[in-house]
Amino acid sequence: MTDINLTAVLFEQNDLRMEDCPIPTPGPGQVLLEMKEVGICGSDVHYWTHGRIGDFVLKAPMVLGHEASAIVSKLGEGVTTLKVGDRVAIEPGVPCRKCNYCKTGRYNLCLEMKFCATPPYDGNLARFYVHDADFCFKLPDHVSFEEGALLEPLSVAVHATNRAGVKLGNTVLVCGAGPIGLLNILTAKAKGAAFVCATDLDASRLEMAKKLGADFTVQVTSRDPLVTVQAIEEALGDKADIAIECSGAAPSLKTAIYATKSGGVVVLVGLGQEMVEMPVVNAGVREVDIRGIFRYVNCYPTALAMIASGKVNVKPLVTHRFKLEESIKAFEAAKRGEGIKIMISCDRKKE
Ligand code: NAD
Ligand code: ZN
Repeated sequence: MTDINLTAVLFEQNDLRMEDCPIPTPGPGQVLLEMKEVGICGSDVHYWTHGRIGDFVLKAPMVLGHEASAIVSKLGEGVTTLKVGDRVAIEPGVPCRKCNYCKTGRYNLCLEMKFCATPPYDGNLARFYVHDADFCFKLPDHVSFEEGALLEPLSVAVHATNRAGVKLGNTVLVCGAGPIGLLNILTAKAKGAAFVCATDLDASRLEMAKKLGADFTVQVTSRDPLVTVQAIEEALGDKADIAIECSGAAPSLKTAIYATKSGGVVVLVGLGQEMVEMPVVNAGVREVDIRGIFRYVNCYPTALAMIASGKVNVKPLVTHRFKLEESIKAFEAAKRGEGIKIMISCDRKKE
């Protein structure tokens, strides 16, 4: 096969193929990007293995990948903010810019959002990809392309901790220490949380949580949330001011509510079953606010500043590296649950 624009295309459930696609042309306000690093997210794997996430159903072939960095290789008409050769991180969701959500600054809720690798929109696990210039963020020279790709999940953590209102001196419980939970630990600490306690089923994930700055870890060994709550309270000496639920597991959501102080906040980051049982009376009478988050909004600049200034070090999250040609192997490793973050290099020059 020639390799003009090698691309990871998901044809249907369980049918991921490497295809050679035409190089796209940037329209007005867009740039052609030579892709550098793309991280695999749980959602990419889920579309591959299930063909859908909730109401988003794969109905036509779709390119995977949305945690990405690149080099600008061509400018579309009217682009003045970037130049050829700029190194950028790509914010993968481009909203309509016109609706009430967009105009009031909550563009993540825009109903016309075009988000990479969410059907029907293509992602960017490819050699070349076109994106709107104003959703590309220029990386300083000392920020690597891998760090640029990690701005995407880091932005989820910036948004979650914003919604939680994490501030100096808070105690924060982070439930689930996958990539999203780990980035929430880093971000909560960077925002001044005094003590962070992390939970997970898996001891190796908790090891990573400790390495990244969690003050306490609790391994979940019982399906009874109250058992876990007790261990959390013993570790923190009290309930937490804030809980950030990053596992999507129903028992963990109960733990998050019970382990949060009266008047505190629980943020729902993890997305699991559509319907779950929750201790709503307990939350209600104790004025525990339960808040959802959807991706992020206006968070890329903050995430980039955190990395560029050294406030957070996201590098230890990358545990596996593959080349674009090996994407299927990379997805198989992700499906087996190996490591933390798997990075795919689209850079021919690196080979
Ligand atoms: P992940 O699957 O790698 O991590 C989840 C972690 O939770 C795992 O380490 C797992 O062992 C742990 N876990 C499972 N059951 C648990 C329990 N009962 N108690 C404590 N820990 C438990 O996933 P991730 O990539 O880190 O993403 C985390 C969640 O965030 C997913 O549900 C994902 O869909 C969601 N997410 C939501 C948004 C959003 O916009 N709301 C954005 C990104 C990701
Ligand atoms: Zn809109």
